[in-house]
Amino acid sequence: MRPVPRLAMYTGTTEQPCALCGDPETTTRLELPPRTLQLMRNGGPVAWRDVVGDVTIFLCESDWELVRDLAVDYGMHPLSRCNAARASFSLRADFEAFVNATREEQDHASVERDHLARADEVLDAYGDDPMIETRDLVEAVVARRALEELGVADERETAVAEESDAS
Ligand SMILES: [Zn+2]
Repeated sequence: MRPVPRLAMYTGTTEQPCALCGDPETTTRLELPPRTLQLMRNGGPVAWRDVVGDVTIFLCESDWELVRDLAVDYGMHPLSRCNAARASFSLRADFEAFVNATREEQDHASVERDHLARADEVLDAYGDDPMIETRDLVEAVVARRALEELGVADERETAVAEESDAS
């Protein structure tokens, strides 16, 4: 797939406070597909289709533990408690102004497929592969559950089932 240039490559990542409580001291970050902004508080007005690259949320130590337990023990995502105003992402208009070029709209379906494929790899390999950390597992659970809730993961599964029926 065509790599999407990220604003972070040019300016350094914009560190944000904890997405849950606003604590400026954060220990962990999760990278999520832009559509997940729709599940966050104050995320409704954000033009998620214009986001370039991923959305990053930052978590303080205690909220990381909460989010980790929610994801690992209950298979839940915390996004309804995350404030989109504290998420870090680049909007296409800003990005174009910065690089002074018009770029194609990001292919969100492809971004989401990549997230789901990565999430499923992590979910399968966690516990066997020592390189996969708990943070990776939590990111995988959050991305997968969020995309399922948004109806994206189901669509993908349906499409896969149809393909295998046809073969
Ligand atoms: Zn916090």
